[in-house]
Order: sequence, then structure tokens, then C-alpha cells
Amino acid sequence: MVSPDGGPVEDEASSAGNPDVDAREAFSLLGHEIRLEILLALLEDWVAIYTEPKSYAELMEAVGIRDSGKFNYHLDQLRGVYVRKVEDGYVPTASATALYRAVLAHRPTEPFAFDPTPIDADCPICGGGTVLRYERGFVSVDCEDCEEWIGFTYSFPRNGFESHDADDLLDVLDARVRHDLALARQDLCPDCSGSTTVDLRIDALGTDTPWKEPLDADAHWVELDCDTCSFTVGMDVVSAVVTDDRVAAALREIGVDPDRPLWALPAGRSRLESRDPPRLAVDLERDAGTVTVVVDAELTVESVTVRSS
Ligand SMILES: [Zn+2]
Ligand SMILES: [Zn+2]
Repeated sequence: MVSPDGGPVEDEASSAGNPDVDAREAFSLLGHEIRLEILLALLEDWVAIYTEPKSYAELMEAVGIRDSGKFNYHLDQLRGVYVRKVEDGYVPTASATALYRAVLAHRPTEPFAFDPTPIDADCPICGGGTVLRYERGFVSVDCEDCEEWIGFTYSFPRNGFESHDADDLLDVLDARVRHDLALARQDLCPDCSGSTTVDLRIDALGTDTPWKEPLDADAHWVELDCDTCSFTVGMDVVSAVVTDDRVAAALREIGVDPDRPLWALPAGRSRLESRDPPRLAVDLERDAGTVTVVVDAELTVESVTVRSS
């Protein structure tokens, strides 16, 4: 259902992000031992905005270098990008601390293997058993018994395995996905705070599709993409808007618990309500009735209706 951060279908080379941000230059600045020592000395005692700046002399001593010409040269290279001069000395920039936190979260130098683990959750399509996997920073849940369910994939820092077992992990992962989705729907990328763009993928419905003709629910999903970094999340319309109170209430009316994990929510059938302006309708049919949700191009819920059967 969900494939964030350049998920399984995306070519890695194409997810390099915004070409205006010069990643090569930023990384190349770190390629020197003295610069690394300066940065690590600053990050060692880092406590967000409350960090005491390190004076020039303290920094020089921490790095263990006596040649001030050499020290100045490398400090200067880092200035602006990773190091900032303030009144009482030097502090790391937000870029430096973000890189540091990424390393703490993903522990790139610690080998970590997680064997596929059966979990206490049923496949939403066939009811069969499911298995949890962890590869390259992504948690995924797949059905062991059928090919019909596309499964669920989402990024999760390796650090999260320290305090959560496989079953526990699903709950915190769902909380994380809902949180990220809520931000992304408000035009704020959860990874980089850049703007996000909604893609209703109307063209995926087929240009020849007669209007209001039901479409194959499994074949349609919508996307929320960051305009700056590689954050991208794809999901069915019901999952995308389930945090809307009206949608949640309507789902309860037809016996669907809106609080179950997003990946276990039933997907509705998408149809094109209007091409201009773009509007998608999704019908979710259960024994107790049918919920119809209409969303606009920004994934804002326009209307929710419940028809009892
Ligand atoms: Zn299945
Ligand atoms: Zn972003």
C-alpha cells in the first residue's frame, strides 16, 4: 500500500532530489581528517539550541592541532555549511546536526540483520499469514499466502529496533505513517519540511474511462511527493484521508474501524468524479452500507456520504 522514500518501484538514481541543493559539495567538505575532528568536537556536546559554543582555543585543543594556519584553513572550509561563528565561539549548523542525527538513527557502521518474522496480523485480502521484513531501512509486511495484496512498505530507522519487537513495531510504524501523512497533507514534508505535491494519478485511471465508471480499486493509488527531497508516499484514497473526522465517522457507520493500521484498512474503488477541476470519488462498500468520499486535487475531503444497504 505505502511506498515512501523512493520505495521498491523507484530507480534510486532518479530520486536524487533537488539539483539546486549541491549534495556533492556538501559531502566533499567532510573528506578531511581535521575537518571531521572539528565537527565531531562540536557535535560531542550538542544539546540543540542550548549548546554552549566552543571557543576558538577550546576547539583547537579538542582537535589536537598546533598549526593555527592549517586549523584556520579547515575551520574556514566548514564555516557557513557545517560550522557557525557566534559571539562566544563556534556551534554546529542545522545541517551538521541533521547529518549527525541521521547517523545516530540509522547506525550505518553497525551490521544489522533482521530475519523475516511471522507477525500477528492477517492479510487484508485473503486473511492469510503475514511476515515482517526489514531491508535497507524499510520495514515491509507481506502476505505469505497470496500474491494479490501489494503489501506495505515504509522507512524506519534501524534505531527503532532497539526498543520494539516485531509485533510492537507495527503499532509504532502505523503511528509514524499517520503522523507523516498528516504533515504531508498540510504541505509539509515530514523529512525536510519542504512543500509537498499531491498526485491524484488521474491518468492512471485511463483517458478512455467513462466518467463515473467504477475502476479497479487495487490498480489505483494516490501519491504525496516532496518537492525537495526524496520523500514520496503512495496509498489508496481511503488510507490517505482516514484521519479526517467525517471519513472516520462514516467508516464506523459501515462497521470499519478507522483506527486499525492503515495497511489493514480496506481500499475503496476509485472513480473520476470530475477531470476539471480534478476530483476523485472513492466508494467503499461493506455489508452495512457504502461510504463515498470525494476529494479534490489537494486531497481535501469535499464530501462524505453514507448509504445504508
Ligand atoms: Zn493474502
Ligand atoms: Zn522533503
